[in-house]
Amino acid sequence: MALIECPDCNNQISDRAVMCPKCGFPISGRGMGYEYMSEATLFGLPLVHIANGLDPSTGRPRIAKGIIAIGNIAVGGLAVGGLSFGVISFGGLALGLVALGGAAVGLLLALGGLAIGLVAIGGGAIGYYALGGGAFGVHPLGGNAQDPQAIEFFKSYLGPWIEQFQRGRGR
Ligand SMILES: [Zn+2]
Repeated sequence: MALIECPDCNNQISDRAVMCPKCGFPISGRGMGYEYMSEATLFGLPLVHIANGLDPSTGRPRIAKGIIAIGNIAVGGLAVGGLSFGVISFGGLALGLVALGGAAVGLLLALGGLAIGLVAIGGGAIGYYALGGGAFGVHPLGGNAQDPQAIEFFKSYLGPWIEQFQRGRGR
């Protein structure tokens, strides 16, 4: 094990440290990660950009940006990542027009453990139309609430699956 200098605060730190214990600066070496960018582009963005780990030149986490973006942090048309922002995004935390994730915030549609969107479907759902274990919104449908308009709305998309929610009411 050798000591190196933190590029940010000049503190002496182990070269095996993932980040500086004093200032939190991410240390490259380990976690260099992986990057792939397609040569094909669309609207000035790479068609596919896959990035994770740290950029050795800046020491900052790489951000995948592309029409299709995949990475710890992904920004794109279709974004897949721990933290994702996209027209359609999938991720631990997903923000997008259509978002699917552990926590999903979608302008149009959100699906996730916690979903927030115009149409939100999730364990906890908050939306204009909300469907979930706990549903909150203008037209909620869930363990806690059965809004007739929400039943009509979700039935038209999800069909008979929705009847479970209605049947639950009689108990
Ligand atoms: Zn430091």
